[in-house]
Amino acid sequence: MAAHTREFFSWGKASTVAPLPFERQTLIVVKLKGVFMLYRPYGKTGKRISVISAGGMRFRDCADSAGIERAAQILVHAYRKGINYFDTAPYYCGDRSEEIVGTALKELPPNQVYVSTKCTAASGADLRRSLEKSLQRLGLDRIHFFHIWCLIRPEEWAERTAGGAIEAAFRAKEEGLIEHVVASTHMNGDDTAQLIEKGVFEGLTIGYNAINFPFRQKAVEAAEKAGLGLVIMNPLAGGLIPQNGRRFDFIRSPHDPDVVTAALRFLVSQSAITSALVGFSCEEEVDHAVDALTGFEPYDAAFIERMKKRIESHFDQLCTGCGYCLPCPQNIPIPKYMDSYNHLILDGRDQAVLDRLKWHWDLGASGSSDCVACGQCETACTQHLPIVQRLQRIAALPDAPAPEEP
Ligand code: SF4
Ligand code: SF4
Repeated sequence: MAAHTREFFSWGKASTVAPLPFERQTLIVVKLKGVFMLYRPYGKTGKRISVISAGGMRFRDCADSAGIERAAQILVHAYRKGINYFDTAPYYCGDRSEEIVGTALKELPPNQVYVSTKCTAASGADLRRSLEKSLQRLGLDRIHFFHIWCLIRPEEWAERTAGGAIEAAFRAKEEGLIEHVVASTHMNGDDTAQLIEKGVFEGLTIGYNAINFPFRQKAVEAAEKAGLGLVIMNPLAGGLIPQNGRRFDFIRSPHDPDVVTAALRFLVSQSAITSALVGFSCEEEVDHAVDALTGFEPYDAAFIERMKKRIESHFDQLCTGCGYCLPCPQNIPIPKYMDSYNHLILDGRDQAVLDRLKWHWDLGASGSSDCVACGQCETACTQHLPIVQRLQRIAALPDAPAPEEP
């Protein structure tokens, strides 16, 4: 904790968000009535964000109003656990996510939670329409953090600029409809660092976790140097870490009860990271994530470096299941095949791929041979995976039934 200063204050004060000078990069601790939460300043915005934040992309069964209300209650629960940053977007959860967040906000005291949403449009007019729809569905008169969404390639910056989307976002900010214009990107560390150098955004959301951190480490360092807020999506590698607890056991310190806790603490310990965005599908997942902080002293820098070296030597190039490679013109369910390939990387046996395909996805290896190598998915892949090569490898496996259910 040497790098941080701690403050203790009441839950009531913590939830009344006051401007904070950027110079005070303080880790705030709130302990009251069973709530234990840490808060960090989001860059230079003067806003403090809980180090665990709520992602709105993994709600289940929310097609009707009852499902929307059930999902909203997960966010209400998250708020009661001290989480004050809700991330959503159009199209998440069958395009219901913004409505779910709006429903939750109606049940919470006003002005207690910061809301993030997004837009992929390149055209200024389209961005404006999307923003207005988001405001209406969220029931807000302004978005706290509005993301220029999913910059996968450096050229997309030019496209969004030429199309007028960037200008439209800043015009909306001047009108008071947006408080902070930020971006989410799946570019590698070097390209993201160049984006940061443009000095346009107040913060970034990037995919970074205990598995893929080398791919974007330069982005984390550049964001810290520039004083940007930094929210981390995919902190659990799209479920891969909890699903392979034994494999990833080495990331635990003696004080971490499980790998999920270890993976979140790995992120929270890094002062450059404002918050880890966890997609919740039930209250128990909220509790599990928040419990990772209970009584927690952030790892020191030497521990984090040792952890990084060890992980770096073991794992990279894993699919996070983000789905950005879809749709495939051949209708290949690419994330399911790449998820199965992860099991080959993690397990080392061809049978691990066949078992995963058959018992988890109800697929055969031969389905991957439909790929015509158009390359579209590889251009879109957030992890820059050699998808075609991996599909060819899977297609070469015997499509015999797996011997028995694991
Ligand atoms: S390269 Fe293959 S898997 Fe990828 S989009 Fe094209 S056909 Fe689909
Ligand atoms: S193959 Fe790439 S884009 Fe597709 S789900 Fe995996 S990581 Fe995401």
